[in-house]
Amino acid sequence: MSFFESIKDLLFPPRCLACNLQLDRYRLPLLCEPCCCGFVPIVSPLCSCCGLPFPSGRDHLCGDCLPGKQPFALARASLYYQQPLVSLILQWKFSHRMTGLATLASLATQSAGFSTFSVPDLIFPVPLHKSRLRRRGFNQALLLAGSCFPGWRNSIVADGLLRIRATVPQTSLDGAGRRKNLKGAFTLKDPDMVRGKTVLLVDDVFTTGSTVRECSRVLRAGGAERVEVFTLARSLLS
Ligand SMILES: [Zn+2]
Ligand SMILES: [Zn+2]
Repeated sequence: MSFFESIKDLLFPPRCLACNLQLDRYRLPLLCEPCCCGFVPIVSPLCSCCGLPFPSGRDHLCGDCLPGKQPFALARASLYYQQPLVSLILQWKFSHRMTGLATLASLATQSAGFSTFSVPDLIFPVPLHKSRLRRRGFNQALLLAGSCFPGWRNSIVADGLLRIRATVPQTSLDGAGRRKNLKGAFTLKDPDMVRGKTVLLVDDVFTTGSTVRECSRVLRAGGAERVEVFTLARSLLS
């Protein structure tokens, strides 16, 4: 640790982002040990396509992912969407506490599913509608893509996919409502860009998968050869 870093830690001691406990030094993830245990990585057995975790057995396809049923080839999430991760994501998304991003990225990149992705030609963050982007000030999926895949930074295209229709928040809808809500919501900025390419889609939370499924469908319709999906978290509530 440099002299400057020691002074900084002395003046502004780092704190656990989940419980605010003072930490003895700045090291990612910025969490105390008990809080860190609350971030549970998703591991096998799981659906070899959509990454749905199973209670026991081996990896196999779930009923939703029988051959040809999903527009994406592979979807993996790093962590279960549960406390304290829920609070950390919300804190980061809505109160602009960007200190959380480096911690979230360090947890995500250590997880088991993280090494299963093909080297992508393009990385597309799931886009926000411009009205929401204006309100929030940043697209969380774009920031996640940059922080989780620094080695593939040159492949990230911030506006490759566009959200052309403002939609109501997916959390207020059931499965069928979610699919209807998203119909025609996304388009490709330049269809020629994805033809024959492997595209990695990035988003923060996978709930029913409707959003990434609709984006993947648009990419495949535009000629993408293979679509893979990375989300930071996966919710098992719905
Ligand atoms: Zn803590
Ligand atoms: Zn599946």
